[in-house]
Amino acid sequence: MDYSKYPAEPYRIKMVEPVKMISKEERMKVAEEAGFNTFLIPSDAVYIDLLTDSGTNAMSDRQWAGMMLGDEAYAGSVNFAHLKDTVEELMGFRHIVPTHQGRGAENLLSSIAIKEGQYVPGNMYFTTTRFHQENNGGIFIDIIRDEAHDATIDIPFKGNIDVEKLRKLIEEKGAENIAYVCLAVTVNLAGGQPVSMGNMKEVSELCKANGIKVFYDATRFAENAFFIKEQEDGYQDKTIAEIVKEMFSYADGCTMSGKKDGIVNIGGFLCMNDDELFEQAKELVVVFEGMPSYGGMAGRDMEALAIGLKESMQYEYISHRVLQVRYLGDKLKEAGVPIVEPVGGHAVFLDARRFCPHLEQTDFPAQSLANELFIESGVRTMERGIISAGRDKNTGENHMPKLETVRVTIPRRVYTYKHMDVVADAIIKLYEHKEDIKGLKFVYEPKQLRFFTARFEHK
Ligand SMILES: *Cc1c(COP(=O)(O)O)cnc(C)c1O
Repeated sequence: MDYSKYPAEPYRIKMVEPVKMISKEERMKVAEEAGFNTFLIPSDAVYIDLLTDSGTNAMSDRQWAGMMLGDEAYAGSVNFAHLKDTVEELMGFRHIVPTHQGRGAENLLSSIAIKEGQYVPGNMYFTTTRFHQENNGGIFIDIIRDEAHDATIDIPFKGNIDVEKLRKLIEEKGAENIAYVCLAVTVNLAGGQPVSMGNMKEVSELCKANGIKVFYDATRFAENAFFIKEQEDGYQDKTIAEIVKEMFSYADGCTMSGKKDGIVNIGGFLCMNDDELFEQAKELVVVFEGMPSYGGMAGRDMEALAIGLKESMQYEYISHRVLQVRYLGDKLKEAGVPIVEPVGGHAVFLDARRFCPHLEQTDFPAQSLANELFIESGVRTMERGIISAGRDKNTGENHMPKLETVRVTIPRRVYTYKHMDVVADAIIKLYEHKEDIKGLKFVYEPKQLRFFTARFEHK
């Protein structure tokens, strides 16, 4: 193995959690009982769990030590002060409101910053983010560059906003009808694709000139910073911390899920510099989450998050993180398995359209593929395609996203390269008898965020 390309784990292991594999017959039974939805499979039936990298992180010894320093005072916890100071130091925002997780922050921001009928342009959508925008009367508009919708185009910074699309939207609708621009770093549903510093700067300049605020979905900010260091001219000699600071200098605030690049198991926050917006956020957080000095989080969790945010920016950590994901992607590519290219920061996305050319999108190929992979190998993944995209709020028709994918998501600091080998072998084996994968149909379809709890049967 080329250790400069795929560095060894930059940690040693001092606590282990045994995993076991049940038989294929048992997995078939489990899958059926779960309505062919990997979200409904009990975790002890799973061998390698790549459902999500959300809250599935392994915390460090320092974070666990921080948990013992939890100050659970109802008001004015010292851990809140630590988190606030850390966020200000790393991201440069003056105000922070802790929330129970990222969607709590999205709920607050959407409630205070969107007026009925306003547009909320973004670089592709995220499920919970768009839900809160639409739930607060906003109209989501996708302004990501066109290439992001094509799984086969391998270019850097595929998550960039198409600035011309944004300019046109401002001209057509008027700046006053745009609530804010939501810029995700990296873009989860596009395949974990990063946004370049140049693009963030350009978006910021255009928005400033028109009096429009820019809020980042900062959930994967450290992974994005790694890609900038690796691939954008002029950033090779900068530290991840310097890059992160510059990234956020082009934003008015952000929502953050601590469960991703915060390397914790629960938590999130909303940030901004604007005093008036902060006052409004504080008024709302007491209703939905808790006192502004803890929001939705325990003191100990705020402490672990403050430490995790800093750890996510250590070069040894973040380079291993992104390159371990790339290792899995490279193995699949070499075997001819169709994946979204280039491989992004947190996951390898299988291209279900090319994996299952015998199925129509309305046969839910990605949902079915995720399910078959579990039965084949005990590896749990999730659908990111037509099921996740949901239905149009007004017409009730299915959104038909160009990307129909299975997300093979790598938790932080949890699995080794050997686990990646096992996963690659399982996917390659499934690809060899892909014709056996059958289409699915709904037997239960929830109204909101249907992918979490829907149930299916074979067509
Ligand atoms: C996970 C995620 C969220 C939502 O965060 P939660 O902590 O799960 O509520 C928002 N945006 C992106 C890009 C995410 O990956």
